[in-house]
Amino acid sequence: MSRLSIRWRLTLWYGAVLAAVLAVFSVSVYLLMSRLLESKADDDLNHQMVVMEEQISQSDDESTLRVRLAQQFAKHPVYEMQVTENGDNTWLRSERIVQIGLPRSTTEGDIAEGVFEDISLPGQKRVRMFSKAIRRPYASLLVQVARSSEQNDKHLGELRGVLLFTGPVLLACVLGCGYLLARKALAPVDRLAAEADKITATRLNRRLEVLNHDDELGRLTRTLNGMIARLERSFGEIQRFTADAAHELRTPLAALRNEAEVTLRLDRDPQFYRNTLENMLEEIGHLTVMSESLLFLCREDAENKPTFADLRLDELTRSVTDHMRIVASADQLELDLDEPLIPCIVHGDRERLRRLLFNLIDNAVKYTPAEGRIRVGLDYRNGLARLYVEDTGIGIAPEHFPHIFDRFYRVDSARPRHSTATGLGLAICHSIALAHGGDLEIASQPGRGTRFTLVVPASPVDLSGQGATTATASLKA
Ligand code: ATP
Ligand code: MG
Repeated sequence: MSRLSIRWRLTLWYGAVLAAVLAVFSVSVYLLMSRLLESKADDDLNHQMVVMEEQISQSDDESTLRVRLAQQFAKHPVYEMQVTENGDNTWLRSERIVQIGLPRSTTEGDIAEGVFEDISLPGQKRVRMFSKAIRRPYASLLVQVARSSEQNDKHLGELRGVLLFTGPVLLACVLGCGYLLARKALAPVDRLAAEADKITATRLNRRLEVLNHDDELGRLTRTLNGMIARLERSFGEIQRFTADAAHELRTPLAALRNEAEVTLRLDRDPQFYRNTLENMLEEIGHLTVMSESLLFLCREDAENKPTFADLRLDELTRSVTDHMRIVASADQLELDLDEPLIPCIVHGDRERLRRLLFNLIDNAVKYTPAEGRIRVGLDYRNGLARLYVEDTGIGIAPEHFPHIFDRFYRVDSARPRHSTATGLGLAICHSIALAHGGDLEIASQPGRGTRFTLVVPASPVDLSGQGATTATASLKA
């Protein structure tokens, strides 16, 4: 069944339901008809019995009655009749059953009221018989009237024939119409599939035609179009990213090649070689950082659910800031924590969050001139932790805000202190923030400074239990 097309399945279901309905209908009609005919036959028998009863009641003695019965009923064209005295002494027997007679009633019931039953007589398949006991002063009589059911059986047979013929014919017609209807209804699906087949990675700008906006297929088409649009965007991003990555790698590789070629062109003194190798080493370091960052971003894109655990964000902030203080002071910058850091717990990945904070402080160090100041703080309110890194550096103009988290995006005017900038740091921070169900916010004024804030869902530290002890301990530390 599952291998059949929807079209066929619909038709067959339709046919099965209709066949069941037709069967119930036909059986009901047949039974109703047979009951009607039976009750009509019983009424006729009863009527004939009444006629006979009248004759019997009008006769005062046996001989008169015998003569009357013989005259009126012995040659009746339709009914077979029999009158006996207690079933033994026969007073009347219709001509057609003179030899065989009617059997005595075997059905339990009040014979004085009259009893109906089906019997069979030689030469007749089914016979309906009505027996009734009638008391007269001169005798106790058993009066019986019978009639062949052949006519009724013939009518029922005809009805059966009609139902058995029209049922299947009707079913076949309806199945045919059902198949055509299902085909017509599903034709747009075939067209949709054919159109969708034509949309490949290189033709993602195409869209499926929506024929009717309000029906189910219209909704399906709109959903598919939405999916193709998302795919187009993702493909575009991947293409841009690949092109940017290739471009970013080409420049340092060309520089390396150039440097090696120029150096090898003439015989140089050892000091020259040493300088060249040092330069090349620096460039290779830059390339290594970039490829490592690219790898990180690719993994971040591919990995849906990194292994997360509950961790103390205040402790992590303190540890990374302490570590970066040495780097900042080497550039004559002051790096301070805005105490107190509000203790809170984040469900996340320790290494990723360390990397995020490290990147933010690294940027602050790179883009803040000597004698500047960097402040790191942590606040917790209403289930959200806000971790910020603020500097008094060169700042970022607002027009760069929409692109600042794009991969390889760098502000032209920014001249980092060291030449290892790849433009991937903030993209990494942003993807880490998103992976933690949070976001990265930026506020900056050119010439005055920048503030990056990580906003992530967090929970408070339980101050009554273990958490409180740890929090106090870490705060004292
Ligand atoms: P990388 O971090 O890969 O070494 P990068 O620092 O240039 O390189 P991002 O960290 O992504 O790259 O930063 C993107 C750009 O945003 C930087 O080039 C710089 O122009 C600007 N920027 C980032 N942080 C600051 C900041 N604190 N102050 C001023 N400009 C900033
Ligand atoms: Mg950076």
